[in-house]
Amino acid sequence: MTPADLVLRGGTVFVADPALSVAEAVAVAVPDGRIAWVGSAQDAGDSIGPATRVLELEGRTVVPGFQDAHCHPAEGGVELTRCALYECHSREACLEEIARYAAAKPDLEWVDGSGWSIDSFEQGTPSSADLDAVVPDRPAYFLNRDGHGAWVNTRALELAGVTRETPDPSGGRIERLADGEPQGTLHEAAMNLVADLLPPITPEEWEAGILRAQETFHRLGITAWQDARIDGLTQLAAYRAVAERGELTMRVEGNLLWDRSRGEEQVEELVELRGAGSLGRLRIRGAKIFADGVLENFTGALLEPYVGTDNYGISMLDAEELERAVVLLDAHGFQVHVHTIGDRAVRDALDAIGTAGRANGTRDARHHLAHLQLVHPDDIPRFAELGVLANVSPYWACHDGYVDDLTEPFIGPERSARMYPFGSLLRAGARLAFGSDWTVSTCDPLPQLEVAVTRIAPDSRDARPLLPEEGLDLPTALRTFTAGSAYANFLEAETGSIEPAKLADLVVLDRDVLDPGAGPIGDARVLLTLVEGEAVYADPGLGW
Ligand SMILES: [Zn+2]
Repeated sequence: MTPADLVLRGGTVFVADPALSVAEAVAVAVPDGRIAWVGSAQDAGDSIGPATRVLELEGRTVVPGFQDAHCHPAEGGVELTRCALYECHSREACLEEIARYAAAKPDLEWVDGSGWSIDSFEQGTPSSADLDAVVPDRPAYFLNRDGHGAWVNTRALELAGVTRETPDPSGGRIERLADGEPQGTLHEAAMNLVADLLPPITPEEWEAGILRAQETFHRLGITAWQDARIDGLTQLAAYRAVAERGELTMRVEGNLLWDRSRGEEQVEELVELRGAGSLGRLRIRGAKIFADGVLENFTGALLEPYVGTDNYGISMLDAEELERAVVLLDAHGFQVHVHTIGDRAVRDALDAIGTAGRANGTRDARHHLAHLQLVHPDDIPRFAELGVLANVSPYWACHDGYVDDLTEPFIGPERSARMYPFGSLLRAGARLAFGSDWTVSTCDPLPQLEVAVTRIAPDSRDARPLLPEEGLDLPTALRTFTAGSAYANFLEAETGSIEPAKLADLVVLDRDVLDPGAGPIGDARVLLTLVEGEAVYADPGLGW
């Protein structure tokens, strides 16, 4: 055997093949960036020559690079450079941080940021009065961390001309006080009343955001992401610029946004953008459609109304519009990626994909539905039947403020007993992928894996699990975050598992995560992330 350039040996190598097998060592040929050999620690000696770099694993784990099949890294990276409220866990903390940021940036025309959480505010709706107290003079706009609502101040409402007379726009809702005056929170499409006035993100800001997110993700062991919303040419051009300079070490699968306010003519534009998109590790293959909103603000689309109301939620596109869009995008060869939270959105999307298959013929399309908070039991087997991937967000599947206070009371016990049905989907033969939906929630795969297994939030480990029968075993969850997401990213031939001839996108974790005595996987840490055999992150303590 010719000596390898790099050998990792003496630990648990999680292969992520269908048999969920493990090995003890892996050898990498660095010049071609590929895995040369996988096997036992003893046989690894044959791959070691005088110039071979050897990393003794000492019982640690090697896994394939994690792949995030649904996230918003470009937008999130830009947000990290503005007023970020992700670490603020109360109303007071948010206001304090906004006041600090506004004082530090006196020249900004707009004070804007993101990351507040609806469970920090009464009814989940922060008020303009609160925001006026810290930003009285300039317009202020703060997107919430799930991206489905915005908090604005009075100056912003004035500039947008939003008053008690302003009707709710289609697909959105202006939160109001008892007298009809805007209260300060805008839901879904109503956000655009103000967001359209914000200064556009510059190409330089997009590029800096992509690189900021890439660094953040590599540190967490992620080597590929699917950007679930590339909105227009500026953002795409920034991705291309970064790729062109050779700075894109992330494998990127990008989704072009289907604009619900426009008609079918936009497909030509999307085809053109797709044609100009792919470069290096950047691929543009998908189109993203929003079928509904979220349950917490009653915009998730339901088959039966919210408890005690006649409100069925919001279909961002009604069933016929959705079907026309999916059939058209499928005919043009797009991988269609649909945001689906409520059971009606899920059903409409499955129906639309079924129609597309009948209209256009079936192909290896890998259409996928993201999030899947509520799936009607009749629809669970349809994922396998239609070849639709279940692209789920594992971190949400636990009891927290969103589920306990803002969802369960409004959907009732029967529907609460079938939330985030990952186990049921898997048992029904569906292919699963994991997506964090960052910046909505953490992009760190390890706590997400913990929730996928335990259905308990890592920051409240003595809480009761959410429907534990829907949890996955750890090897299955690990395979979902690697090989499963690689399949959703069309990258499974080259990545997603640790097998000879595949690209050496590898991650070293600080312990044997498969050993039950090692503690929860959410406590593990990434020590090393390799892309094609080259380190893109190394823990300072590793001496790499
Ligand atoms: Zn998303």
